[in-house]
Amino acid sequence: MKVLVINCGSSSLKYQLFDMLNEKVMAKGLVERIGLSGSTLTHRFGEEKYVKKTEIPNHEKAVSLVFEGLTHPENGVLKAISEISAVGHRVLHAGEDFSDSILLSDDVMKSVKKNIELGPLHNPHNITGMEVCQHLLPNVPQVCVFDTAFHQSMPKKAWLYGIPYEYYQKYKIRKYGFHGTSHRYITEQAAKVLKKPVNELKIISCHLGNGSSIAAVNNGKCVDTTMGLTPLEGLMMGTRSGDLDPTVVTLLMKKEGWSCDETNDFLNKKCGVLGVSGVSSDFRDVETAANEGNERAKLALDKFTYIVKKYIGAYMAVLNGADALVFTAGVGENSASMRAEICKGMDYLGIKINEGKNSVRGIEGDIADDSAKVRVLVIPTNEELMIARDTYNIVNAKK
Ligand code: ADP
Repeated sequence: MKVLVINCGSSSLKYQLFDMLNEKVMAKGLVERIGLSGSTLTHRFGEEKYVKKTEIPNHEKAVSLVFEGLTHPENGVLKAISEISAVGHRVLHAGEDFSDSILLSDDVMKSVKKNIELGPLHNPHNITGMEVCQHLLPNVPQVCVFDTAFHQSMPKKAWLYGIPYEYYQKYKIRKYGFHGTSHRYITEQAAKVLKKPVNELKIISCHLGNGSSIAAVNNGKCVDTTMGLTPLEGLMMGTRSGDLDPTVVTLLMKKEGWSCDETNDFLNKKCGVLGVSGVSSDFRDVETAANEGNERAKLALDKFTYIVKKYIGAYMAVLNGADALVFTAGVGENSASMRAEICKGMDYLGIKINEGKNSVRGIEGDIADDSAKVRVLVIPTNEELMIARDTYNIVNAKK
């Protein structure tokens, strides 16, 4: 069974085609600058790469091009598009409607549309991707895999904000959490690495990339996470501020005369590591600048590792200790220095990494010192595979 995974953004579309017989990626790619000048499709299959620069005015054209690439006589991996048995879509926000992935239906689409209010930057584009696929592949089942779903198991005390209860009732204002597909993948993979059933483990999953979040997972269920109503809450990130005293926001709006949209844009795109360092949102650039003596770059990295450490401590308390601390995503998988800094001085909590083992990069490994109580794992995340697995399982269960 061949499953196509689609992650549709405002001007980009990422895709991966899986053969679920062996969970192998047959092809993957990216359509960039949809609706803008210089649109490009980059299609990869095996070690090969095929780049097509052409006008891509909308997502319909983008998906058609993906199909063209997949069935191309020389560069394609399929004889016909009818070989695709199902499509899995990454969808950002399910509100409180779904705690699991689900087969797309009219009712599900209605719910995703209703939740545009909660995910205004992502849900509209996810919907476009689903509508285009429904149009171009009318008889192929489509599955929605939500970023928020894994976190629906959090207890109310973890997700309710300290504001009058009526605003939760009226507007569903609460913590939802994101990166759920990644945290779920990490949880399952950590259980495999530790050779223990998932429901016997306490895991702290640290997804540290451009967007970053941590989840506390007890017996396979998320009990708390750092992101909130939107991905803005929690850790300081590449360009997002993370936790703030809300008065910072109202004061800035007053002083600078910003509108709500301008303020949102500021908090999401101009803060975090970029804002503090003044160098870049990219951790590699900031690490280079810090190594060259740039004090603000050093401060940005210090602040980032400090907040990650603080939340790990908080989640150790929430879980009453952990079996494993897991690092994933761009920074978590690749940066030995950030992992070392985060784990420094946590031996009291049973966390101690081994310098030699910590040199792993982008591959699975246990980097904890043999003497330490808590395993520290590096596990490359794979949200696309998780989406493909859910799609495969849901479509097969319906048969
Ligand atoms: P997202 O999916 O949120 O865009 P990623 O998970 O791809 O982000 O992570 C991107 C971040 O990871 C970038 O800031 C990048 O600099 C950082 N990164 C990647 N490799 C390294 C590395 N070797 N050392 C430090 N940071 C790295």
